[in-house]
Amino acid sequence: MHIPMACPDLTGNEAKYLLDALNNEGRISSSGKYLEKFEKLLAERFARTFALSTSNGTTALHLALLGLGIGPGDEVIVPTLTFSASVATIVHCGATPIFIDAKKDDWTLDIEQLQKKITPRTKAVVAVDLYGMPCDYAPLQDWRILKNIFLIEDAAEAHGATYASRPVGSFGDVSCFSFYGNKIITTGEGGACLTNDGELAKRMSVFKNHGMTRPGIYEHEVAGYNYRLTNIQAAIGVAQLERFDYFLEKRREHEALYRTLLKDEPRIRFQEYPPSKKPVSWLVSILVDGDLDKICQHMREHGVDTRRLFKPMHLQKPYLSYAQGQSFPVAEHLHRQGLCLPSSSLLLEDEIHYVCKQLKEALRI
Ligand SMILES: *Cc1c(COP(=O)(O)O)cnc(C)c1O
Repeated sequence: MHIPMACPDLTGNEAKYLLDALNNEGRISSSGKYLEKFEKLLAERFARTFALSTSNGTTALHLALLGLGIGPGDEVIVPTLTFSASVATIVHCGATPIFIDAKKDDWTLDIEQLQKKITPRTKAVVAVDLYGMPCDYAPLQDWRILKNIFLIEDAAEAHGATYASRPVGSFGDVSCFSFYGNKIITTGEGGACLTNDGELAKRMSVFKNHGMTRPGIYEHEVAGYNYRLTNIQAAIGVAQLERFDYFLEKRREHEALYRTLLKDEPRIRFQEYPPSKKPVSWLVSILVDGDLDKICQHMREHGVDTRRLFKPMHLQKPYLSYAQGQSFPVAEHLHRQGLCLPSSSLLLEDEIHYVCKQLKEALRI
């Protein structure tokens, strides 16, 4: 028995559309009907005017920052508990990441701390919908509008989550998605920037396409990048979006089963959140009061993949100088005690029972 951490569900029209893109269309680069359709479906689904597909989630974040004109001398506030791309892209722009801690209950960024970190150089905040959990968008929107600060939403881990009945991905000046293989919607590698601002969409698209304003005419306005998705990848994405609601429902069922099976374990806790938030189960994540190394080893020996929560960025070599020796106790605690469990719409109920049985055994050793 081997139960992987995550496994893409490609059992819909993925192969069919992929072959269509190869055989009938012959468009395998960065134009074609699947790209158009994928971007249109994304904009519709997340209630935005513009959707710009990108080569991955990291390039989506980089384009968002570039499009908003963020550069040297600017400060961008970002939670320390996140995947590195949320921070690396700030550094790539020559801007300074300013770390804040996570909240104890739902692990998203702490607005009170955020308010304390603002300076005249604060240009933007990158709000990460961590492990499927939406940030506190109502207070965040009020606050940043008051302070005239851009909001970039890193929604890579929360496709389909809602806050006050509005989809995650609809809040930022730019909202960024990743479609990496372990994300809820995948194109293998891929990403997107969503916005309602046409000028901003245009600027991001110029950076995405070698800095060219009119593709095909070799005039370059800026030193651009090639951050394009291919029509082949978009073909997979279109098929994925057809089954988006099914994926969300399956993941919801699975998380509910995990919660039921583990509810009597006093040493296990799940994220807690208010009714205004409807998270999605990207990776079912728990806090365990125990020796995680031993627990992970037991799970591995019994064929179950597990993964620790992210190691906070203020403890990582490339970002130590930005952290200036500060500690962020909640993020550090979550990293120490946090564990992700196998999550995929392809998981079987029996497998979830098995994972929970092994976890309970591991806790007893
Ligand atoms: C996956 C992820 C990204 C980066 O996406 P890639 O497509 O792997 O480049 C960015 N931010 C967060 C929070 C992620 O989980």
